Amino acid sequence: MTNSLILLCTDLDRTLIPNGHQPESPRARECFARLVARPEITLAYVSGRDKRLLQAAMREWDLPTPDYAIGDVGTTIYWVGNDHRWEAWQDWHDEIGPDWAGHDCDSLARLLDGFDQLRLQEPEKQNTFKLSYYTLSSVDGEQLVAAMQQHLSEQGIRASVIWSVDEMKDVGLVDVLPESATKMHAIQFLQSRLEAPDDRTVFAGDSGNDLAVLTSGMQAILVANARDDVKRAAREQTRQHRPERLYIASGNSLDMNGNYAAGILEGLVHFIPKTRDWVLKDAD
Ligand SMILES: [Mg+2]
Repeated sequence: MTNSLILLCTDLDRTLIPNGHQPESPRARECFARLVARPEITLAYVSGRDKRLLQAAMREWDLPTPDYAIGDVGTTIYWVGNDHRWEAWQDWHDEIGPDWAGHDCDSLARLLDGFDQLRLQEPEKQNTFKLSYYTLSSVDGEQLVAAMQQHLSEQGIRASVIWSVDEMKDVGLVDVLPESATKMHAIQFLQSRLEAPDDRTVFAGDSGNDLAVLTSGMQAILVANARDDVKRAAREQTRQHRPERLYIASGNSLDMNGNYAAGILEGLVHFIPKTRDWVLKDAD
């Protein structure tokens, strides 16, 4: 009965987790947890967090246990399930691994030894296919990324090198990932392995780093607490191409405000109307 499965993929921070400025509707998360406990729904968390931070978030915010978690910036798909095994899905590593031409994060780090500006992040921030560094925040990030890319591609390695600044800690961050290890690709991989049809697969997100998925033509929800510039960009990018596949939550339905979990529920009901009864029944 795989074709009756609903695959619900959601970002965590400021999408399911109400850690933004806007208020959360009372009981929205409870209602979400009851809904995803239904056997029809397969739940996947999609997050930049690593396993430890995913688990910490689940405890802190009392989130339901997902069936899968796409973590480590898309480089790992964990099979979680009720026995909380958190097993990294080997098939996904087999899919993205060839980009690194036989290297893992340790051997790739050795190839980048010559870059004096790079300082390895803590061991728990590294993963088989995620190599992460600190730099000074004053480093010319663009130049550094270009030099690293070039050095790696000369060795036949296809890598995304992503530079950002943690302004709170005033430190630069560099992630090196297999080029094909994107959130979008991981969701598509999961969808195809689970044989979930397009009209029963839904993604929810809130921010700029969710835009690629939000505007991909997959059924996608932008929660109401998203910033206006993200809503504008999402609308703009889907205007020519399947605008009906993007739903921007606004509240005014289900007696909730459309922020965080309420927005996910609102969008799910929009795309898959029969889930309305499940949500309302649960709200009683
Ligand atoms: Mg987010």
